[in-house]
Amino acid sequence: MPPLEKVVEGVEATLKLYLEDSYLKSTRAMVVKAVKSGGRYYLVADRTVFHPKGGGQPSDRGAIRGSGYEAAVARAMECRGVVVHWCKPVSGVPCEGEAELAIDWGFRYLLMRRHTAAHLLDYALAEVLGEYRPAVSSWLDHPAYVEFKGPAPGSSEVREVEEAEMRLIEEGLPVEAKHMPSEEVERLPTVKGVRLPKLSRYRVIQIGDLPPIPCGGTHVKNTREVGGFRVLKLEDCGGSFKLYFEV
Ligand SMILES: [Zn+2]
Repeated sequence: MPPLEKVVEGVEATLKLYLEDSYLKSTRAMVVKAVKSGGRYYLVADRTVFHPKGGGQPSDRGAIRGSGYEAAVARAMECRGVVVHWCKPVSGVPCEGEAELAIDWGFRYLLMRRHTAAHLLDYALAEVLGEYRPAVSSWLDHPAYVEFKGPAPGSSEVREVEEAEMRLIEEGLPVEAKHMPSEEVERLPTVKGVRLPKLSRYRVIQIGDLPPIPCGGTHVKNTREVGGFRVLKLEDCGGSFKLYFEV
């Protein structure tokens, strides 16, 4: 298995279409590199709809169909701004040239709903506890959770958090991605105690008129699309706690 650095050598950064439109299910693209490794292929295209694993969001999966071949994308990975699709050939031999890239939309849409619910949890928790709690980690595949810093809430508080989250979902708040300079981001209550990469500008998610949250993931357009929310389990990690949830 070649190191990813080797695969992306000399390749320009990928145009990440999912950052602009998370509802885009497929795109035509130019496969600029195809590297065989055992029975698998690493395919790199000039643009992609595949969100790589990162920021708690699991990688998209799907298919790439090019001239005389079809490959199943098991996962997408990012290296130096380049998205690499790790593929298993279904038919033919993957190669460079024009291709159609399509994600597994059912899985992605579930991730978008969970991801938006995970952000709403910041606000629901702040409403119940009276202050923002820094999110230290999250995972959006099943079982999905967000881990927050601080002492674990009691079971009645968890029920209140669920109710606050459901109110935010039912309010049908618009969800938008925009960019903010770092000096504005540093003042947000939602980033207090959160470790961020050093950047001059951040992509942030704005839900209604709530304070934005820096994020590079994919979300639904309106909180109503989250559909529902249930806390499955509270895990006390000593100094932090995990809220497992499903939408
Ligand atoms: Zn997000």
